Amino acid sequence: MKKKIIVIGSSNTDLVARSNRLPRAGETIIGSQFFQNQGGKGANQAVACAKLGGETTFIACVGKDDFGKVAKESYKKVGINTDYISSSDQPTGVAMINVDDHGENCIVVVPGANNDLDINRIDKVSHLFSKDTIVLLQLEVPIKTIEHSIEVAHQKGAMVIVNPAPAQALSDEVLSKVNYITPNETELTLLTGVEINNEEGLKEAVEKLHQKGIENVIVTLGSKGCYVSSKELKGYYEAQKVKAVDTTAAGDVFNGAFTAHLAENYPLSACIEFGTRAATFSVTKAGAQASIPSLEELNN
Ligand code: ADP
Repeated sequence: MKKKIIVIGSSNTDLVARSNRLPRAGETIIGSQFFQNQGGKGANQAVACAKLGGETTFIACVGKDDFGKVAKESYKKVGINTDYISSSDQPTGVAMINVDDHGENCIVVVPGANNDLDINRIDKVSHLFSKDTIVLLQLEVPIKTIEHSIEVAHQKGAMVIVNPAPAQALSDEVLSKVNYITPNETELTLLTGVEINNEEGLKEAVEKLHQKGIENVIVTLGSKGCYVSSKELKGYYEAQKVKAVDTTAAGDVFNGAFTAHLAENYPLSACIEFGTRAATFSVTKAGAQASIPSLEELNN
């Protein structure tokens, strides 16, 4: 049976400026393009899940402003269940994103309403969690909310996937309840205290996560693809060689696509390949959610 996906996380409005290089501290430079679209790691991953075959419910908090209304409408359009997106008096979260001609980016996020996604709001929707659901989380809403969500999801027998981004520490108690974790190298170092300078460091850090009780570890490695370590699989998966236009949300697309495939009970290797293919596709396009492929686009 296909599992239902519940994404718990941030919803932001992205304000994107493109320039030939990124500004230094104190510098003003002239950009070449501006565009506005939906972002936030939670929203990006929910959209990726929904566009790539997942039956997806998004749990988030937005402001009672125009950005919040536009956000909900856009999530509905891709088939996300928005019934459990609540609203608060804080403004909808905003991300100011600079992207250069090489696809590098730097981002300032003002969380606003995301900070109001508290434990009470999770308790109100906890009836949705069951052994037939996958709960996918990132770390862009309050850490107490994340930890509580993991506890409740685990108690109810849901499968828990954590993309520990942006990098933050999580307690060992909470980590032991996570089924899949998907850090990049920076996040892996923060979670384990191990500097990743070579393959040995990578494997040592991954082993530490296994020792904390996480069975499946997937470390995303940018253009190099990812490293997977689980009972059934161990090794590197290469990403396709592409011309990167904008790497914003590459990790989000990987997580969303991976989860959508896992919900359809594909073997782990197929889920990794699918996640990698979708993420690689997304870096060839500008924007966050705008760069997420549909199943049709991915299969062409
Ligand atoms: P994050 O965005 O969370 O830092 P990564 O940069 O590791 O995550 O990217 C996630 C995935 O996106 C990678 O595992 C890979 O599949 C794909 N990806 C990222 N950058 C590139 C790139 N330059 N070329 C091809 N694929 C990429």
